[in-house]
Amino acid sequence: MSYEAVIGLEIHVQLNCPTKLFCNCANAATEQANSHICPICIWLPGAVPQLSESALKQAALTCLALNCEIQDESAFDQKVYYYPDLPKGFQLSQHHKPLSRNGWLDITGEDGKSKRLRIHHIHMEEDVAKLVHETEGQARISLVDFNRAGAPLVEVVTEPDMRCPHDAMAFLRAVRTQIRYAGTAECSMESGTMRCDANISLRPVGSEAFFTKVEVKNMNSVKAVGNAIAFEIERQSKLLDDGQPVTMHTRLWDPEKNITTYMRDKFAGPCVPDPSVPSIRLSKIQINALAERLPEMPSQKQARFADQFGLTEEEAAQMSAERDLADYFEVLVNAGITPRPAAQWMAGRFLPALKEQHQEIASTSLTPDRAAELLSMLEKEVINAKQARKILLLMFTSDKSAAAIADEKGFKQLTDPAAMTAILEQVMADQPDAVANLRSGKKQAASFLIGQAMQQSRGKANPKLLADLLENLMGDN
Ligand SMILES: [Zn+2]
Repeated sequence: MSYEAVIGLEIHVQLNCPTKLFCNCANAATEQANSHICPICIWLPGAVPQLSESALKQAALTCLALNCEIQDESAFDQKVYYYPDLPKGFQLSQHHKPLSRNGWLDITGEDGKSKRLRIHHIHMEEDVAKLVHETEGQARISLVDFNRAGAPLVEVVTEPDMRCPHDAMAFLRAVRTQIRYAGTAECSMESGTMRCDANISLRPVGSEAFFTKVEVKNMNSVKAVGNAIAFEIERQSKLLDDGQPVTMHTRLWDPEKNITTYMRDKFAGPCVPDPSVPSIRLSKIQINALAERLPEMPSQKQARFADQFGLTEEEAAQMSAERDLADYFEVLVNAGITPRPAAQWMAGRFLPALKEQHQEIASTSLTPDRAAELLSMLEKEVINAKQARKILLLMFTSDKSAAAIADEKGFKQLTDPAAMTAILEQVMADQPDAVANLRSGKKQAASFLIGQAMQQSRGKANPKLLADLLENLMGDN
């Protein structure tokens, strides 16, 4: 039988806040286990949680960045379960009254068409402690580190609108882009500040109802989410084809073997309203004030880049894809570089080089003001494109300016017309066939002659000037 996948995601995002959700302990990674703890976040009996204003603000901005409607009233519940990473026996989460509902993000589907994926709701919750498994002599032991306990999270729960691994990966990337623009979280799956569980079920193509869903955890990259979903679709298809039932349970992704394995039966404990944290009430005025704090978002930036700088739709989309990249581009433009060449240089030269250097745009050694100097030399034809490419690579590993490197390498572009005419005349004397071809109207012969002259100048000549001089010389004869 041919099946269609029905996929929903639950995405945990750790918010950028100085403190944890209900206490004043630092919300930061640290080597020293159990160093950021207090009676509230190790959940001693009688400790009184106090909701962090900063976490609430960051959570609300995150909801707005994902087009969700903030609710007038939201409240915390006790999600009851018992496990060593949660000694108080419940996690403070929002089940009955989440902070926001009804969001959406648009992605580009596998068919290249825009597709809107809906978000059911976003709720706030506290993170649990971390178990560290070690051996002591012969004995296996588990230790509990509470540094992460009580860290401020939001959980984004989607509608089951995704149909393939591509949709899920595109959605995760879109969530990451929106939240990074809003500046409310780091969203790194690699470092654990964004974690994703996928719910996957199948249904016969054309049917509305679907078979039992399976939850998969433990993917630590966007690509791993795609791989885990692809594996699970295959596994469930085989089971159904063999007439075996799919049972509701949780599986773990094994990135070494590229398979999912059984973890545990799905457990959903009761969620009861928490009496200790007052419910959150936000007025329309407060919600509007928050919305105003949201910076220019990717789609708005893309429209402005096209409008203000004359970029094509594709260039504008590329330059607004990440906030760091857009900021870099705008520094170049504000430094006087012509926008379209700046965008083309970033996409075609700078970003590939950055990747090769294993550097991030936010922390690259080639800061945008240094890049602006390089591009300005190129625009003023002090250096040519080939020299600019060489200087670009050298600038990553040196803190020297573009001008200093050009000087050092003797990269000044040759612009002396007399010297260049002499080179051209020599080339024309050496290549009478090409000259004859050019005279009979074959335009490629000009490119050939300019190429030869470039070689003679050891790449230093200004190719535009060479072309002009060649035209003059041909006119003279
Ligand atoms: Zn604490």
